[in-house]
Amino acid sequence: MLQAATLAADFPGLAQGVNGEPLAYLDNAATTHMPRPVQDAMRAFETRSRANIHRGVHTLSQRSTEAFEQARATLKRFVGAGAQHELVFTSGTTEALNLVAHGLSDAGQDGPVLQPGDDIVVTALEHHANLVPWQLAARRSGARLLVLRPDRQGRLHIDELAPLLSPRTRVFAVTACANATGERPPYEALMALAAEAGALTVLDAAQAMAHEVPLLSQLPCDFMAFSGHKMYGPMGIGALVGRRPALERLTPLRLGGDMVEWVSETSASFAALPARLEGGTPHVAGAVGMAAAADYMDAIGLEAIDAHVRALRAHAVAGLSALPGLTVLSPDAGRSAIVSFVAAAAHPHDLGTLLDERGIAVRTGNHCAQPLLEWLGVGPTTRASFALYNTHDEVERLIDGVAFALEVLK
Ligand code: PMP
Repeated sequence: MLQAATLAADFPGLAQGVNGEPLAYLDNAATTHMPRPVQDAMRAFETRSRANIHRGVHTLSQRSTEAFEQARATLKRFVGAGAQHELVFTSGTTEALNLVAHGLSDAGQDGPVLQPGDDIVVTALEHHANLVPWQLAARRSGARLLVLRPDRQGRLHIDELAPLLSPRTRVFAVTACANATGERPPYEALMALAAEAGALTVLDAAQAMAHEVPLLSQLPCDFMAFSGHKMYGPMGIGALVGRRPALERLTPLRLGGDMVEWVSETSASFAALPARLEGGTPHVAGAVGMAAAADYMDAIGLEAIDAHVRALRAHAVAGLSALPGLTVLSPDAGRSAIVSFVAAAAHPHDLGTLLDERGIAVRTGNHCAQPLLEWLGVGPTTRASFALYNTHDEVERLIDGVAFALEVLK
């Protein structure tokens, strides 16, 4: 059993009052807080090893390069990457997914992978970051964009993917957890089916990483994207990890220093992976912090974290569903830390404001998933999302706060 209240003491940002109440930080799907060991690791890097990486002969540059490569190794291990995989640092999930969509559709040096007549299949559960880049990739390449829709309860069904697949399917992109509803789709089976059809598979693991780490060693996954700030690490850093042959097919997004082998006035040849996709000075302290966050989670135990956040969600779903006029989306979402809900009589913005007055931080709006919320016919929602440091007392405060707000707003 995980001792959330004890672990919360590791997170300096949580020990503050908001509007005269103790902070109940329930906006973890947007960004989690960082524990002291992560902050310490980043500070130690900046103090002792700050220098630009690669090609530096001096000691600090070597230390910085070592710290960066160590972070890469730690994170590869964390996601079950093997010798056939590589990890590329990005600024976050958004950049990682843009890198894939752009990299498959840009002409590059050898012509684009995506061709007119090809199909790209995405799901309607996606965050805009795993939809809009594919819309542009389709337009750029002349490929067709097909969307696997969920049922009206927001669940994806495996048998509905098969009719969308054909020998023309080049890409299948899916989320490991829908950030707007908390729905955890059967992404393993969906990806296996798409891979069987010959598609490159793309997994948006932004929401899963904080408690259910998808293991590349067990997945038919070509590309997986995630963000440091959603897994107890820093903002501005993330990763694209995937199978080397798949990564090698991508045209780099960032052209410039450190990603080339040689350059003439009129042409250039690109460096080997991972440098090839990491042009420019990277966020080294971010990479160090992200790896420290993975170590922190490992030390606590992923299973314990997962069980804890799921229990918090179940508690919240039960309490909120019992409130009059309130509907919880995806009540049976599976392995999920997110509870998203709507109330006929209360606008999410007002609900969120009243909760903030009680020190409770939730997110309101469309959660960058407009097509999904429109398909479900609900519009903007209020979303609470849980992390390893949240407690059942905080869930009770959420339920009480929502009950109070519904009374005030009716
Ligand atoms: N995908 C999902 C499922 C997300 O929840 C988010 C963040 N809300 C993103 C992608 C984008 O992540 P980032 O802003 O860190 O790039």
